[in-house]
Amino acid sequence: MQPRPYPYTGRKIPCYIDGAFVDSGEVFEKFSPVDGSLLALVAEADRPLIDRAVAAARAALRGAWGHFTLAERQDLLRRVAVGIEARFDDFVAAEVADTGKPLSHALKVDIPRGAANFRVFADLMTARGSESFHTDTPDGRGALNYVVDKPLGVVAVVSPWNLPLLLLSWKVAPALACGNTVIAKPSEETPATATLLAEIMHEVGLPPGVFNLVHGFGPGSAGEYLVSHADIDAITFTGETSTGSAIMKNAAVGLKPVSFELGGKNAAVIFADADFEAAVAGTLRSVFSNCGQVCLCTERVYVERPIFERFVGALADGARLMKIGDPYDGADMGPLISQKHREKVLGYYALARREGGRFIIGGGVPEFGDTRDRGAFIDPTIIIGLHEEARCVKEEIFGPVCHIAPFDSEAEAIDLANATRYGLAAAVWTSDLARGHRVARAVDAGVVWVNEWFLRDLRTPFGGIRMSGIGREGGQHSLTFYSETTNICVKY
Ligand code: NAD
Repeated sequence: MQPRPYPYTGRKIPCYIDGAFVDSGEVFEKFSPVDGSLLALVAEADRPLIDRAVAAARAALRGAWGHFTLAERQDLLRRVAVGIEARFDDFVAAEVADTGKPLSHALKVDIPRGAANFRVFADLMTARGSESFHTDTPDGRGALNYVVDKPLGVVAVVSPWNLPLLLLSWKVAPALACGNTVIAKPSEETPATATLLAEIMHEVGLPPGVFNLVHGFGPGSAGEYLVSHADIDAITFTGETSTGSAIMKNAAVGLKPVSFELGGKNAAVIFADADFEAAVAGTLRSVFSNCGQVCLCTERVYVERPIFERFVGALADGARLMKIGDPYDGADMGPLISQKHREKVLGYYALARREGGRFIIGGGVPEFGDTRDRGAFIDPTIIIGLHEEARCVKEEIFGPVCHIAPFDSEAEAIDLANATRYGLAAAVWTSDLARGHRVARAVDAGVVWVNEWFLRDLRTPFGGIRMSGIGREGGQHSLTFYSETTNICVKY
């Protein structure tokens, strides 16, 4: 299939502040992870531009947006969803070019979910109720207590590169649905779909300042300037745990509420009674989807001993069959996001060797003999034989790699799955329904799938425990975070 044209070829990718596109000032380069070519120059927001964005967002809260009815906000959000669908091909081309992910992934997951986020949170607002209590008083007249949900105010949204539009809109949509104004900073690696989204916001007539977009890096750049700004009211962030920690220090200064969706070191537990083919296919997806760059991806696989060798062999066979390459060439797996990230993942492959791991497949870099050799491709990799305390078993690698270890009892499997400082997701594979429920409840993670992986219902809570996050988003949980709750007590 012919590559679709990148929407920003030959022009600078701008920021969007107070209803206008801004491309003056410093720029940075965005390179293709597929072949290393320059995709575009991106306007980098400096501190004065962040100040302007925050001031515009603050002013917009006090302007017309603050008086919009719920129905008017819902109408705008639904028009944003329609707008994304109307420019579906541009969004797909932008996401594929920025990330190198297979076309099918952008077509089926990234862009449809990006649009769905706006519809779902518009709809959820209709179903939102509020608490009320009748309170007895000594004079017998009584009082009515009821709750009003107000916007938090100016919300800073900082998002990562692995599912760019999906994860940005996962926060922007509920924030706007609840009446907030937003300043969004996408990853420096994936500026394009966020900018297309700003174009849609502009087209549907969102009042100036309600949605602002700033490009740039983290420390010493737009990300840090934004999260340390005194006049933002809340921070919602998805990304690495260490970045969450840095952001939290800034948030502490002004006691800003935070919602954090962070890293993971997710386990899959495969019992001998599982549907073998389904467990292999599900684990192939959970390890290698998006080149292992989904926060929910499995990096630790625990297999009951009687089927251990057969499972390792079948997973390796499946991985060998995966087609690695160009997003438009029917690839199952594209490159990592960048050369820099590939260095990190290869560093872990080298570490696993030093730690005594045995590589069943992979461990290196594929050679194509064409322009893809200038990209960030890497081998899908399966390792066995590491000690449970090895760094490669403890630390998030965020690449197409897993370590597989055997277990002998249900209790041991639970202990192994829980032996992590993270706690984002887990998958349990068994045909014993009672065991499925039991183990799922015993595993410490924000989401546990039984005989599935990455099946999402947007009404459900999503988030991680321990180092995997703070708070929950999804459904009513998002609406709760993006709202400030006021109790009103009226004497009868
Ligand atoms: P990252 O933390 O490097 O960057 C995320 C965003 O934070 C980017 O926009 C970046 O510019 C910005 N940033 C970096 N330092 C900052 C700072 N000091 N202040 C303000 N902003 C800063 O993460 P990444 O590499 O883009 O994404 C991969 C990570 O995200 C992985 O750890 C993955 O597990 C995690 N992730 C988690 C979830 C989840 O839902 N839990 C989802 C997707 C990705």
